[in-house]
Amino acid sequence: MGERNDDFITYELQEFKLFEPLFRWARKKSLWIVAFCTGCGGIEMPPLFTARYDIERFGMMPNPSPRMADLFLITGYVTPKTLKRIIITYEMIPDPKYIIAHGSCPINGGVYWDSYNVVKQLDKYIPIDVAIAGCMPRPEAVMDGIQEIMRKIESGEADGWKRYRENYEWYRKNQDELFGEGWRERDARRWLAWI
Ligand code: SF4
Repeated sequence: MGERNDDFITYELQEFKLFEPLFRWARKKSLWIVAFCTGCGGIEMPPLFTARYDIERFGMMPNPSPRMADLFLITGYVTPKTLKRIIITYEMIPDPKYIIAHGSCPINGGVYWDSYNVVKQLDKYIPIDVAIAGCMPRPEAVMDGIQEIMRKIESGEADGWKRYRENYEWYRKNQDELFGEGWRERDARRWLAWI
């Protein structure tokens, strides 16, 4: 490719903005979900995809790879050990990406409010776009949350992925406070001694 001058880049960005409403509409119509279940929601998710509630009619489907997904469902309480995996998985999902948190536990710890081993406020560590209260929310409530994320995607309000980029220092500080600095490298080396 030849060299681009500033005018060309500006033109390209303007052109992109022109099509942005169309892109947003297309994104909300085809949300692929990372199949990563946490907490009690692990057993509440399958009914959503099966015949009775069937969220596939919204263009949604579960997907085993974060590289091909754009919606991350956090389906219940999160322990620090699980949170490490959630952060790494979230960072592997390409932008734009969205998070829905199900249940009271990700909001404030829920019934595990006094547990040493449950993260009390998940949005200190990763950006949540929609939270659905309940213990566990009914599938109708989850579908309501799905409608809300679709509305937010179309209006551009679902901007958690931008917030994560722009406030990365803050998120990273909170993560390091919880796990200790250098946790990524330490975790990667953790099992070497057992090989
Ligand atoms: S909110 Fe209730 S159902 Fe959901 S993970 Fe917590 S304890 Fe389980």
